[in-house]
Amino acid sequence: MSGAAIIDGKAIAAQLCADVGAAVTRLKRDYALTPGLAVVLVGEDPASEVYVRNKGRQTTAAGMASFEIKVPATTSEADLLDVVRGLNTRDDVDGILVQLPLPAQIDAGRIIEAIDPAKDVDGFHPINAGRLATGQPALVPCTPLGCVMLAKSVRADLGGMDAVVIGRSNIVGKPVAQLLLAENCTVTIAHSRSRDLPAIARRADLLIAAVGRPEFVRGDWIKPGAIVIDVGINRVAGDGDRHRLVGDVHFAEARQVAGAITPVPGGVGPMTIACLLRNTLTAATARRNIALKI
Ligand code: NAD
Repeated sequence: MSGAAIIDGKAIAAQLCADVGAAVTRLKRDYALTPGLAVVLVGEDPASEVYVRNKGRQTTAAGMASFEIKVPATTSEADLLDVVRGLNTRDDVDGILVQLPLPAQIDAGRIIEAIDPAKDVDGFHPINAGRLATGQPALVPCTPLGCVMLAKSVRADLGGMDAVVIGRSNIVGKPVAQLLLAENCTVTIAHSRSRDLPAIARRADLLIAAVGRPEFVRGDWIKPGAIVIDVGINRVAGDGDRHRLVGDVHFAEARQVAGAITPVPGGVGPMTIACLLRNTLTAATARRNIALKI
């Protein structure tokens, strides 16, 4: 087995959570301020309930206040808009996250646009997307932020690198491409209609896979020595009744060629919640004009 360095997302996320926790301690001491994160869960989807519980636990562990708002699956769009508007006006709530997906009767876009952009810790509001695209301070989507932090853990200055992002979703592909542009990478966004994806991928010094297809990116798509960030989380059949998680990259092949690679699980996944906590801290300080570096 040769080898790419394995990027330890779990350890990097734990460090980020600890840094956020230390900053929260300073905020409490110097400003008597406890940042608060509200998570809204519509319905009883078991996977979403697990995510929300996890978020709540980690929020509290970082010293922040955690508010869980559960509403029934039959809630109307108008009632959910009222919940969001109520949270917008609460001073003890700095971050608002509405857990997606939402039931069919609710237009997710309308809900996202109702969130105060200053409290939009998911970074999905068009105002934050626009600010990111125009180089202004913004709340940035958590998973893309985590991807860039992981790449920078390998090489602090990404400037001049050829970066290829496979996937163009609003929650991963597009914002990660914007962040890499801001890091002075030369960015290519590839997607389902791109021609000769392997050839495009092979140009990448930094390859980000956000496709949602198990082990889609093969070893011979990877430029020797490249940094590979695998965003995909795919459940595939394992032994017997068991499932296992794999990424969008064929890890066993890719690690033979890449210079550094994130595993699945234990790569990008843990960074997402850590970045959510960081965004909550950013939102709490930015809307009060407090300068606090972490
Ligand atoms: P999505 O389905 O919204 O977007 C997938 C993108 O991949 C699309 O833009 C599409 O153009 C592209 N694509 C699909 N098939 C392709 C093909 N054959 N060739 C080239 N491109 C193709 O998915 P998403 O929300 O961006 O998520 C992508 C993956 O990342 C999923 O596996 C998801 O579970 C995972 N994810 C992980 C985290 C995390 O915390 N680690 C967060 C969000 C998403």
